[in-house]
Amino acid sequence: MKAEVIAIGDELTTGQRLDTNSQWISRELAILGIPTGFHTTISDSLDDGVAAFRLAIERADIVIASGGLGPTADDLTRDVLSLVAHEPLELSAEALVAVEAMFARRAAPMPESNRRQALFPRTSRIIPNPTGTAPGIDIMIPRQPDSAQAASGPTAATSAGVGQGGEAICRVFALPGVPSEMKLMWQESVRPTLHSLLPDAATIMFRRIKCFGAGESAVEAMLPDMISRGRDPLVGITAHEATITLRIVARGRDEAACLAKIAPTEATIRECLGGLVYGVEEDEIEDAAVAALVAGSATLATVEIATQGQVAAMFAQAQARRTAPVLCGGVVLAAIEGGQTLAELAESVRSQFSATHGLAIGPVLSDSGTETVEILLLGPKGRQAAVHRLGGAGTLRLSRAAKTAIDLVRKSVD
Ligand code: ATP
Ligand code: MG
Repeated sequence: MKAEVIAIGDELTTGQRLDTNSQWISRELAILGIPTGFHTTISDSLDDGVAAFRLAIERADIVIASGGLGPTADDLTRDVLSLVAHEPLELSAEALVAVEAMFARRAAPMPESNRRQALFPRTSRIIPNPTGTAPGIDIMIPRQPDSAQAASGPTAATSAGVGQGGEAICRVFALPGVPSEMKLMWQESVRPTLHSLLPDAATIMFRRIKCFGAGESAVEAMLPDMISRGRDPLVGITAHEATITLRIVARGRDEAACLAKIAPTEATIRECLGGLVYGVEEDEIEDAAVAALVAGSATLATVEIATQGQVAAMFAQAQARRTAPVLCGGVVLAAIEGGQTLAELAESVRSQFSATHGLAIGPVLSDSGTETVEILLLGPKGRQAAVHRLGGAGTLRLSRAAKTAIDLVRKSVD
């Protein structure tokens, strides 16, 4: 079974808004074990909509669309589906009651235009929308006879469904564009329906292991045979602003079966990578550093030149997330004045803010084309130093340096 995800809206095709719905839907499909073959983004135009849906129906077994279900003239998804399915739109008494009830709950009169939201292609099913006015549309659309095998061969017919005349069909779910409404309707209606269609309702679980301090290829080299296609569970590697994420994907009968597969793989990764692993899932390096400061009953004061306050800002954000006040204060300087050393700077902020540790990040130093930043952490047990070699472009350059300084705190405080 193969899916296509369609996002509809001028705000998406004009670049005013990022299509986050498709990303979310594809992740959800992956969790169900349904691969997504295509993401299509279309404007609020009838012709473009018809063309995109026709194509999707021929090449996918499941189409999940979001957007274009509103009451206004530019919301055309229902009209598009009516044309593609060759079914007239009919007023659904059930949907009209739901739309009217939503207005009644809001104690607002229903504009005449909202009656449109109760129009449905004749054979479609209504997907209830508990928090908005636009119900979704669930419709089975037959493929052209000569392309019945187009999507994924014989399995297409059995998994997505077979029409009464024996023809292959594509199942289309159209949801509103508002992300919160779309997600709730997915969880309450679409996901359970898809789950029941799957041949052997399999569960997929993910585990993300976060690392810092080595490049992507170096990390990969430390994990022999782990990142290979076809492995079970699968391990993928991605890099984002110098943070390396290893994603374990396990399939199994149920959650327990998936967890049983993930545990030994995670243990091997941790064993191979040692201190490079700083956290899991959404953890950022600064979260790990804040946790290390808390564990060591330590506090921090910072003084930054090259990183322009980024280190203090990242610590401030992490301590707010974790409600762990560890940053006593931070200073940003334009340059080192009066020949002070980094150790003197670190000592001066440490005493100024009465912290246990002082962290100093020096200016950018250039030496025959190589740019570096010196980092120094001063604590009760002495000093730790690191030299970060600047790489990357734009703001990334400095945020990597900031992360290196934060990682020094993580590794040195306990
Ligand atoms: P309705 O929600 O009334 O059915 P609609 O489905 O067309 O109408 P819009 O009014 O076009 O939804 O969009 C509602 C909100 O959802 C807007 O803020 C829009 O930017 C946002 N939105 C729509 N599609 C997406 C998407 N693919 N990703 C992220 N946000 C989206
Ligand atoms: Mg829209």
